[in-house]
Amino acid sequence: MTEVAQAPGAERAQELKRITHWIGGEPVAGTSGRSGPVYNPAKGVQTGEVDFASVQEVDRAVEAAREAFAAWRAVSLSRKTEIFFRIRKLVDEHREDIAKILTAEHGKVLTDALGEVARGLEVIEFCCGIPELLKGGFTEQASTGIDVYSIRQPLGVAAGITPFNFPAMVPMWMWAPALACGNTFVLKPSEKDPSASVFTAELLKEAGVPDGVFNVVHGDKVAVDAILEHPDIAAVSFVGSTPIARYVYEKGTSHDKRVQALGGAKNHMIVLPDADIAMAADAAVSAGYGSAGERCMAVSMLVAVGHAADELVDAIKVRLPNVKVGDGMSPDSEMGPLVTGEHRDKVASYIDRGRDEGATVVTDGRETAPDGNGFFLGVTLLDDVKPEMDVYKDEIFGPVLGVTRVDTYDEAVRLVNENPYGNGVAIFTRDGGVARQFQFDVNVGMVGINVPIPVPVAYYSFGGWKSSLFGDLHIYGPEGIQFYTRGKVVTSRWPDPATSKVDLGFPQTR
Ligand code: NAD
Repeated sequence: MTEVAQAPGAERAQELKRITHWIGGEPVAGTSGRSGPVYNPAKGVQTGEVDFASVQEVDRAVEAAREAFAAWRAVSLSRKTEIFFRIRKLVDEHREDIAKILTAEHGKVLTDALGEVARGLEVIEFCCGIPELLKGGFTEQASTGIDVYSIRQPLGVAAGITPFNFPAMVPMWMWAPALACGNTFVLKPSEKDPSASVFTAELLKEAGVPDGVFNVVHGDKVAVDAILEHPDIAAVSFVGSTPIARYVYEKGTSHDKRVQALGGAKNHMIVLPDADIAMAADAAVSAGYGSAGERCMAVSMLVAVGHAADELVDAIKVRLPNVKVGDGMSPDSEMGPLVTGEHRDKVASYIDRGRDEGATVVTDGRETAPDGNGFFLGVTLLDDVKPEMDVYKDEIFGPVLGVTRVDTYDEAVRLVNENPYGNGVAIFTRDGGVARQFQFDVNVGMVGINVPIPVPVAYYSFGGWKSSLFGDLHIYGPEGIQFYTRGKVVTSRWPDPATSKVDLGFPQTR
């Protein structure tokens, strides 16, 4: 019997929704006796209880995926394409349903949730071209009568472990290319907003994905460790915070798995004195506070060069009172609550910490948070932030935007390059030469030029550098296809008996 935990400090809805695993094409109630609370962050109310998997339950999901692999792998590419077109259609038809699930459990506003689904859908659309993406090479007559060709084959069972901040899109970055390449999949979504994954499982079944090809297990470290240690899992994709990404990479690779582990971020936006300041201020507010700052590509530090600083801070300051904070379900809201009360309190604590460290609190989000029990925090702007302060060093992951002032372009680039993270960065300038030099100089995986959130389109790949990614391959796009397949090279001869002879020498190609 599942033990239902009492959520500290939060009210509970009259009837809690129970969120179960999905194994072998059907919902499976957890039997571990462990579970966790799911909230509606806008109301500050517990609305659900999610089952946490035991090692045996993870084993069961992996077994279902292992059993389904041989048949799924053998499904022709034209049939897989047909299924992917159906998945595409169903996700498109259910955009709003998925978005509402995201808003209800994560808190982001509905328009933002719709944007999340749209960006995930682009990855599914990319995967509809899987026959083209899996094409190998062919060399005729490499040696006399010998042809050589390369093919890419699936790995087997792949697993995905995903964060709370994109409960639909990040799983799509993983399962779509994994399945298209012929793998089967076990997803362990964030326990904070798990319902979108179960809804996805239902849609995949409806689209004709065979039972066992896509499975969901919910849970915490117990489930994650069971995945990382499981001998039948060939590859693990992870997206989440840097300490856990490092742990997943080290543990997964030590258990002979291929691992890509995307971590946290501290994304800088450099504003040069020649930039269009109004455009830069719009971008800073949108990228700093969108989704309440809970995006791995959110701008969290503005690096203002020379006289850009005063103009930029003034321009942002006048925009902040217009940011409408409220329930994500309301069409008027532009920014929703944070995901949990605990996270809201942690983010809010950085405002005092910043002041104590010597930063100037231009706007204090605690003063503008809507009333009620929701996990709200208004927008905060900290000026005069210095690189040695915690508010600079830590990934705050909330609606707290910092400004640091420097004198030169070189100083700005040095700050970015010395930062341990390297996920996204942006530069705002009107000078094409400087922008081009910046893309050459900067040690970051995703670069925006007058674009504050440079999330690559689906036919490029997404990933940071340094502590923002452990592993060699970025996620989705061409590198996603590479990650979920391995190469094989075939050297072939159709023998002419007349030329057959014993030759103990090393094979030569002439
Ligand atoms: P998190 O690291 O706390 O959790 C991610 C996943 O790991 C979840 O499924 C969680 O259940 C699991 N997990 C948590 N603690 C664990 C432990 N001790 N052992 C094993 N597994 C554990 O991250 P989060 O708070 O859900 O998400 C926010 C973080 O994700 C931020 O740091 C953000 O920058 C990062 N993120 C990065 C990207 C990217 O592309 N680089 C994208 C989205 C989010």
